[in-house]
Amino acid sequence: MAASLPPARAATQDDIRRHNLGRITQHLHASGATTRSDLVALTGLNRSTVGVLVAELSEAGLVREVAGPAGTIGRPSLMVEPIAESVVVLAFEMQVERTIGALIGLGGQVLGRLESRHRREGYRPATAVRQVATMAASLIALAPRQATWVGTGLSVAGVIDRSSGLVRIAPNLGWRDVPVQELLDRAMSTHFDDPPQTIVGNDSDLGALAEVVRGAGRGRQSVLYLTGDVGVGCGIVLAGSGMVDAGGYSGEVGHMVVNPHGLACHCGARGCWETEIGADAILRAAGPEAGYADVAAVFEAAAAGEPTADRALRSVATWVDIGLGNLVNIFNPQVIVLGGHLSHLLPYLAHADGPRSALFATREQAQIALPALGEDSTLFGAAEAAFEALLLDPLGTLSRSRALAS
Ligand SMILES: [Zn+2]
Repeated sequence: MAASLPPARAATQDDIRRHNLGRITQHLHASGATTRSDLVALTGLNRSTVGVLVAELSEAGLVREVAGPAGTIGRPSLMVEPIAESVVVLAFEMQVERTIGALIGLGGQVLGRLESRHRREGYRPATAVRQVATMAASLIALAPRQATWVGTGLSVAGVIDRSSGLVRIAPNLGWRDVPVQELLDRAMSTHFDDPPQTIVGNDSDLGALAEVVRGAGRGRQSVLYLTGDVGVGCGIVLAGSGMVDAGGYSGEVGHMVVNPHGLACHCGARGCWETEIGADAILRAAGPEAGYADVAAVFEAAAAGEPTADRALRSVATWVDIGLGNLVNIFNPQVIVLGGHLSHLLPYLAHADGPRSALFATREQAQIALPALGEDSTLFGAAEAAFEALLLDPLGTLSRSRALAS
């Protein structure tokens, strides 16, 4: 994950140059227009080196210099800003009943957005990738003529082998061992000549990435991003980057057992966190006789002061607190971002300043936050994953990609 500036260490002059071009592009992409003096301070490079690097990026069409606000002496300083129309990525978020797609330019600007609905039952992988490729064609048609398309990111709620884009299991779609990246690359090639490769990621991991780059976890080194929907997942960022684990499958906190006397979970265990705080748990707590169509209806009723809905959310929130306490004790995070429906449960947590069940020392450092990117953390995370190659090697990636107009 490109969560922070990489360490300033490299082998050859070429490596150092590539690395520094990447650091400057990463900063401009995440933070927008910046003065040259701030780039000097941020990179620790000298003024003339920064000047040469900015000139190279400008010549490649990635950045431009514009007049900034006037300073105290009156003369405006020049700002370096990323050009959103220079490079674009496609980002997709596949949910249970809809897929959202966006065309996103350098700097995180949304240049186009689409949504396509599908039925949960019988949503086969072949249909799904065809639908995404068709959306891709409509989104790319909206791209500026001079743009270069450098990547595509797709979020799926499931256990995913990130290196191959193999979806090991996506319980809510009923998929098991589906080579989504391979299928999508093939579907894309029916619409485009030589499209950039697709990256498939887990929804919580991508949500965490986006919140660290440009959201509630910005500038923080240890951040957890929780997704709450039918299932519950957790993206884990430690020391500024995604957790390195055996298979890339960490963060399955929805299957952390919190209630040994609870209900059976689809995973085979009993009393998993998601059986206590997932969407079904909320509807169950509100009582089937109340007839709420979905969790949004329960949140609305509770906000309107309906006592049954309010009681249901308070009871679910006690289980949220228990699971958060475990996570805070294990990871000692600076920020825990509550995504998905969990964001609506924040007001019902007993202690908004940290879970009651955590040790006082870990708790006092953990800030519980709402996602700064609202419902789009995961979608923006898919875009960040697609930008990763460009941010590591801007000029190399550009030279390997094709401008849309060519
Ligand atoms: Zn489970």
